[in-house]
Formats: sequence, C-alpha cells, structure tokens
Amino acid sequence: MRKKLVIVGATGSIGRQAIDVAKSRPDLFEVVGLSAHSDASGLLAAARDFPDATLALSCDPEDANLKAEVSLRGPEGLEELVRSTVADIVVNGAAGSGGLRPSLAAVESGKDLALANKESVVMAWRVLEREASRSGARILPVDSEHAALFQLIERIGRDDIDELVITASGGAFRDRPLGDLDDVRPDEAASHPNWSMGRKITIDSATMANKGLEVIEASRLFAFEPERIRVLVHPQSLVHALVRARDGSLYAQASEPDMRVPIQNALTWPDTVPCPFGRLDLAGAKLEFRETDPGRYPMLALAYGALSAGEGSTVAYNAADEAAVAAFESGKIRFTGIAKVVERVLGRPWPFRLEDLRSIFDVDTEAREAAADAIREIGC
Ligand code: MG
Repeated sequence: MRKKLVIVGATGSIGRQAIDVAKSRPDLFEVVGLSAHSDASGLLAAARDFPDATLALSCDPEDANLKAEVSLRGPEGLEELVRSTVADIVVNGAAGSGGLRPSLAAVESGKDLALANKESVVMAWRVLEREASRSGARILPVDSEHAALFQLIERIGRDDIDELVITASGGAFRDRPLGDLDDVRPDEAASHPNWSMGRKITIDSATMANKGLEVIEASRLFAFEPERIRVLVHPQSLVHALVRARDGSLYAQASEPDMRVPIQNALTWPDTVPCPFGRLDLAGAKLEFRETDPGRYPMLALAYGALSAGEGSTVAYNAADEAAVAAFESGKIRFTGIAKVVERVLGRPWPFRLEDLRSIFDVDTEAREAAADAIREIGC
C-alpha cells in the first residue's frame, strides 16, 4: 500500500526535496496535501504534479483568483489540512516557530510526523510527546544529524550508547579572522559552504545557533543529558552524527550532504529501501574533525546553558534568536550582536517546565519583547 503524504512547507528547501523523494518512488508514496506560507505561485506549480492534492496557504492572500484556487487559508487552514486530510505521514518542513502548530495537529490526529522543524521540539517536546503517545503517532526526525542518530540508536541499542556526537560545518565564517565578524553582512552570513537551505537557518549555521537548537533537539528526542551530547566541527559535512558505544567504539553515519536521504528514511520507516540519493564514495574523501571554538560560536554555550536551565529558557533561546537574526537582517544590530541579544534574554528568569501551548506561547511572546529591548540597547 502506498503511503499518503502531506507536505507542510512544500515550496521550501525540505518541502521541495520531499517532493523529489515522493516523485522518485510513485510506487511507495502518494502526495495528498501540500502547503506553503506565502509563495502561492510556487505552491500551485508544485501541485501540478499532484492534481488531487488538497492545498493550503498559511498566510491569507488578498488575490481573489488565489482564494478560488487554494481552499484552505491562514494558520487555521493549514491546521485543517494537516488534521482533516486522510494521510499516513506529515512532512513538516516549515521554517521557524510557525511550524509548531502543524506538528501538533499531525500527532494529535494520529499521523506520523517526519519532522524537519526543530523549533517544534525545542519549544514543545513535552506536549508533542504526550500527544503522540496518546494517539500512537510516531515522530521521525528529518534534521540530518538527528535522522543519523535515530538510525544509529535503532541499530546499536540505546542502552549500549554512552555519548551522542553531532557534527557542524562551522558555517559561512568558520575560517574568517575573529576580528572581522563585527563587520560581516547578512548576505555573507546567508551563504552556506556545504548545504543549500533557507536564509534564517543558514545564518543560524554561521552563529552556530542552529547547532545549539540541534543539541536541545537531540537531548529531548533521545532523552540524553546535555553532558552526553558533543558537537564537533566537520567542515566536509559528510559524517552527520556519531555515537560512542559503551566499549568506546565510535559508529558514524555518512552520506553526501543531501537531505533526500534522511527524508526518504523517515518516509519509509520502519523499512529501509534503496536510496538513489547521497551515496558517498569514501575513496579520496577527506574527513576532518575539530573542537568548536567558544569565542567564535558563543551561541553554542548559550544553548547548553538554556538546556540546563529548563523548558522556558529553550523557548526563550529560540525566540530571542529569531528576533535577533531579523534585527541583523534589517541592519539594527551587527552579526556579533545576535549572541549578545540572546545572552541578555536568557539572563532573565524563565519557567523550568511548560505544560501546554498557552504557557509556551506566553514565554515566546515575553522573550521576543525582551529581545526587542536588548536590540534597542545594543544597536550597531
Ligand atoms: Mg541539521
């Protein structure tokens, strides 16, 4: 039987690659729903390959023609698409904190969730996990490092693993002199050496906020304490994660940097099927690993601090980073100001546990207000 897929964020990087995977195996997958945030023409173009798919736009367009073509609109329309479409699995490739509600709608309605939206886990793991265990839905990580860890943990067995290691490319400025970082421009920060991704996540790679979010994500998804999660800079992005077994051996997952590998693995789970993408030939490949430099990447230590400080702090970390990156993009702060804003916001007291969406969004709002104050104070 073919698996029925809903793809949230179909015009973004993950969504387009999920469509590629679905089209490569029409015997395995049927796309029954597609959504985008505001790129209506991109959504309609993607839908040409799937004429029966239900469409949703999570913003509400002015254009009357579009209104006629896309029946579900606004954040409620997107939730309706995820909740009401008859499907087996929802791929969530939405960017940022806007991805949380569709994640929750998927697991509440008993659909498996192939999750690329790390903010869902960072903000609301307790709620997602509770609703998934209630409905029987499975949460399958698509973020490349977590998809790799998921495979390694399934194969080796959680009880035999001492340590998780995730790799980081080091982002756009890994080799820039530290003194230059005050003056780098948004367009430079948004150009990634190895991966082609959305703009916010690429800037997050340059600050390593992305890796900070991933450490939080790994700790929550796999229930490992922060002390048992390590980050190594690996400029080639060929090894995505490693686990250290109890006997000290390291096991690695490696492929070309191609998100279609983790997407396909999530979509076919618990089966593995031959994958036409990302096969790595190690002959001639160069693999380097090094320690992360805390002076270059202060966002990483801030993430570990937030993880130890509790759930409110991880929501605040994410919200402050989103606000600070937007301020950097619009020229209100420098690149190095991003970590300063987040550090100030994390200096406030935040609740240790967050039981429901309302308290999560309260912290999110408060952290964005605190970030706005910090942005004004820090300036350029
Ligand atoms: Mg990643």
